Amino acid sequence: MAESSNPIRKVVIVGGGTAGWMTAAPLALGLARACDITLVESPEIGTVGVGEATLPTLRHYNMALGIDDADFVKKTQATFKLGIEFKDWGHTGNRFFHGFGDYGPEVENGAPHMAWLRLLRDVKDMPPLATFSTAAAMAGANKFTPPFGDAPGACNAYSYAYHFDASLYAAYLRDYAMRRGVTRIEGRIVDVEQHSETGFITAVKLDDGRRIEGDLFVDCSGFRGLLIEGVYQAGYDDWSAMLPCNSALAVPCEKTTPLTPYTTSTAKSAGWTWRIPLQHRTGNGHVYCNSFTSDQDAARVLLDGLDGRALDDPRQLRFTTGRRRKSWIKNCVAIGLSSGFLEPLESTSINIIENSVSWLLEHFPDRDCSPHLADEYNRLLSERFEYVRDFIILHYKLTNRTDSEFWRYCADMAIPDTLKHQIELFRETGRVAIYDEKGFSVSSHLAILLGLGVMPKRYNPLLDKMDPRPLLAHFARVRDVIQNTVAAMPDHADYIAGHVAAP
Ligand code: FAD
Repeated sequence: MAESSNPIRKVVIVGGGTAGWMTAAPLALGLARACDITLVESPEIGTVGVGEATLPTLRHYNMALGIDDADFVKKTQATFKLGIEFKDWGHTGNRFFHGFGDYGPEVENGAPHMAWLRLLRDVKDMPPLATFSTAAAMAGANKFTPPFGDAPGACNAYSYAYHFDASLYAAYLRDYAMRRGVTRIEGRIVDVEQHSETGFITAVKLDDGRRIEGDLFVDCSGFRGLLIEGVYQAGYDDWSAMLPCNSALAVPCEKTTPLTPYTTSTAKSAGWTWRIPLQHRTGNGHVYCNSFTSDQDAARVLLDGLDGRALDDPRQLRFTTGRRRKSWIKNCVAIGLSSGFLEPLESTSINIIENSVSWLLEHFPDRDCSPHLADEYNRLLSERFEYVRDFIILHYKLTNRTDSEFWRYCADMAIPDTLKHQIELFRETGRVAIYDEKGFSVSSHLAILLGLGVMPKRYNPLLDKMDPRPLLAHFARVRDVIQNTVAAMPDHADYIAGHVAAP
């Protein structure tokens, strides 16, 4: 017989950045009637405040909270994101698009890219695979509208995410969570109390002497990992040998037109810059390794590349790429930057926060906090971090750039065996290994691998005997449907104006 439960009475969230409020909102929805939720934040310490590009899964996160999309887009100054334009990554002048979605519907005997590889063998002027991406076609024309219905057809094989103002999003979720009963406390935590026998955290103490007790503590304190590292010394796997960027400069600039429905990432001599269009401004940043360039030069590269007037001085951030060895220890669960950080090349940090909160709810403990729940949570999170890590390294490792010490380092550096396998599998057979069904799709891998110039030697041999004519007709149809559909779509800026004005 199962033992009677010993339910959690109070959850304390430490930190009110994106992670803190993204944790508080679903907990408020799922647990508010079951236990008290308190969030402590220190305006004096502040938040990282960047983090403006997301993945399509954020829509599911918002939907689960019952957030009205138009209201969210209006209040966070959001724009729509169909993917990322990569410039100068494979070599100077190289450009490709990582769009959200597929290259048209499935074809007989498998994935569209296999049929495309098969046709490349016989058809001299076969267009690039990206021609069959609706997301890429929309991005190229600055068009946006959500996909129509669920049936996978040529023109709706795409998805979308958002760009938003991170501080407005945190404020949006703060209002949401507080309306559902979350208590917010301002103050700086200076001490932590632990149970003398179990080592469980029993309370955090503020600099004004206040004491906040709890049964479960969620550490959203940012890079410092106030509880997970400060109290439990969880340890950190440092991945900077494979992902050498350790610095960023961020600066907003005046918005320019047209309002592009995508992020732009441009490779530079010691890293890359981002451009994220919002309704009221454009977010910009330069991610770089300070062993290969100075902060002054990095700032110059960033400011020289702005397409509008800078609205502030660049803000400097330092980080160590890697993962906390354990993110759940005893009654403490780290979410957000306190659990690890991978550079924002593919906008994955907020996505990892979404996963973390949903895994916490799925594995929600009682007051005994079974170590088995912690082990399972740590396993899921570790796998997610490794999968994302491999995908990001791919962008650097496959470069053909030799024009700076940084890029020569990236081309030569050792990479994980899982990624070696991924690259060789694709190069030899055209197949992509998916280790994590919730992670980046086959199409995402294809965009990066083909975009950086890796062309498979073979394709699915089952297609060998197929008559190429129906395949060719399939791709011609997909291209026509995409072109006609995109031509009829509204301009991105017009779509937003109509969306936020809707009653
Ligand atoms: P923070 O924002 O640092 O918040 C920490 C909170 O803890 C604050 O409220 C602080 O007051 C509180 N705190 C700390 N110590 C104490 C204390 N002693 N007492 C009380 N309170 C305390 N992610 C994406 O998904 N997309 C992106 O495009 C993206 N771009 C990024 C660009 C850069 C350069 C960087 C560095 C990150 C980027 N990220 C991005 C990651 C994203 O910014 C973070 O995942 C997100 O902001 C979460 O941060 P956080 O809430 O964990 O930490």
